[in-house]
Amino acid sequence: MYYYNISLIGSPLEPFTYHFGTVLEVGQQVEVTVRSRKAFGVVLSQTQQPSFQTSEILQVTAFRYSQKQMQLAHFISSYYICSLGDAFALLVPFANTVQEDAKRSDIEEYSSKIELSQKQSAALDFLQKQSVSLLFGDTGSGKTEIYMKYFEQMLGCGKRSIFLMPEISLTPQMSKRLEEHFSERVVMWHSKLTPKKKKEAMAKIQSGEAMIIAGPRSALFLPVNDLGLIVVDEEHDESYKSSSRPRYNARDIAIYMGKLYGVNVVLGSATPSLSSYVKFPHIRLRGGHFVSQKSFIYERNVESLSPLIIEHLRETLQKKEQSIVFLPTRANFKYLICQDCGHTIKCAFCSVGMSVHQHSRALKCHYCNFTQAIPQVCPECHSNALTSSRLGTAEAVQNIQELLPNAVVQQFDRDAITTANKLKKALKKFNDKESDILVGTQMLSKGHDYHGVTLAVVLGMDNMLNMSDYRAREKALSSLIQVAGRSGRAKDAKVIVQTFNEEFFSAYIDKYEEFLESEKLFREELYPPYKKLCRVLFSHKNGAKARDAMTLMQERLAAFSTSVEVVGAGKCAIERVANKYRFEILLRADKSTELIKAIKATKVEMAEIDMDPLEFS
Ligand SMILES: [Zn+2]
Ligand SMILES: [Zn+2]
Repeated sequence: MYYYNISLIGSPLEPFTYHFGTVLEVGQQVEVTVRSRKAFGVVLSQTQQPSFQTSEILQVTAFRYSQKQMQLAHFISSYYICSLGDAFALLVPFANTVQEDAKRSDIEEYSSKIELSQKQSAALDFLQKQSVSLLFGDTGSGKTEIYMKYFEQMLGCGKRSIFLMPEISLTPQMSKRLEEHFSERVVMWHSKLTPKKKKEAMAKIQSGEAMIIAGPRSALFLPVNDLGLIVVDEEHDESYKSSSRPRYNARDIAIYMGKLYGVNVVLGSATPSLSSYVKFPHIRLRGGHFVSQKSFIYERNVESLSPLIIEHLRETLQKKEQSIVFLPTRANFKYLICQDCGHTIKCAFCSVGMSVHQHSRALKCHYCNFTQAIPQVCPECHSNALTSSRLGTAEAVQNIQELLPNAVVQQFDRDAITTANKLKKALKKFNDKESDILVGTQMLSKGHDYHGVTLAVVLGMDNMLNMSDYRAREKALSSLIQVAGRSGRAKDAKVIVQTFNEEFFSAYIDKYEEFLESEKLFREELYPPYKKLCRVLFSHKNGAKARDAMTLMQERLAAFSTSVEVVGAGKCAIERVANKYRFEILLRADKSTELIKAIKATKVEMAEIDMDPLEFS
């Protein structure tokens, strides 16, 4: 009889020991019983017969995890502090019939149709020389052609590429472009695939027919042999970060995989994250293909749809041209803004905006939980015109419709666009000029092509800028740049930005690099990439139990006070979700190893770990 340590896929539990009559390889997927239920597991290692009674492995499945996938699972489990089983649940195993390192014999000659400009060629040369690099290219500077040329080169030597993009950027336009160029060799992978399409895609991946695998973060975990390149487009995008256990960031895992597989990783963005900009060598691609001009109008107003904005929308409509109206995503919180001077109140300890909690009549910092009373007058100019108004997408659509009854107004956000088909239809409708005004959230700004937009209205910038988030400036400025980049592709365009912070936005709108340089100074003392943060969450139907778990861990953490700082602990900004009360501890350290060490030693059962958190609510 042989004994094996088996990790249970998708389970938070530690590995168990099972026995089996024959020798099994490490990485083999098996079926076992756990507490009289069937479950899948992974053979981690062979072991001695234990002193306790073991169960028999029910059967060996047709799948196994490659050696590299095993290493990847171990990395995810240790860095994100989750069970191996949770890490394995992310990975799609290989069919047993596939040989892990089988080389392709049918390498084909590939005649390229992509012509790169001199600048683009120079950029590609640069990217090829670095193991991890950042392609810092303005909207319209031709990043996609560079990626495609790189994929072609990989094809030419029989290597596969993974092309990661935010789910929402998997636009019909991008699919079309890739499929037209690479036809059968490209597989588009995303969560909205029908079961039939998913099966077809998986068959092409398992058989090795697929040479370019394009998709959102889950595409990273498909069984891919002969990997040659990973491209992470829109690397700054938050959707790379998972918001459920394990809370990994696909961009960071891509970078780890680059090392593991010995392949190059290219990060691309028009507005890269400060963290990638600081960590990796970059090449700058300036200017777009567009000759048209853009003029910016800054309006100091907090009245969302102001007369100036309505007037411009009306004018654009009369010229039979199109407009887009941007509102930041589900801004969960209200921030107090002075209507006279635009001042907002910031946490004295964290330098981020404090949000209004109406029921407790208080302002609260989402990092350290510092709370103060809502002031009666603006501390800056003593005006009493403090407001915390906010406008949602649906409401904006309705208001515009009422004011401009002749306009066809489309809502473009997660509430309205729920399927790939709806996205396709909505984009087609707008691009066919069957509607005049597109009102939406961040979804507006992500990789879509609008041909005829001559007016972009950008609302809520001050709300974004004042968020209780250390990346508030980065997020606000990059959103503005991305939205502005959607307009004026064919004709000259106007961009109206409603803000009291014209100085900030106008200084950096064309100079993102200078912004990043200035942002370094702000982050250095307290925030990533210079410091490591980790958020530990506790949630329970019984609020007292969640609080006790938090308190216990907090007490244990005291032993690590020389290496790990407890920034704050208490109720989460969103105190209750799905009937569960939520508490949190925010930790800060110089190195992730220090955080991991402290958390592993002090972790309580209820604790959910969010390493490198991007959300603080
Ligand atoms: Zn004021
Ligand atoms: Zn604070």
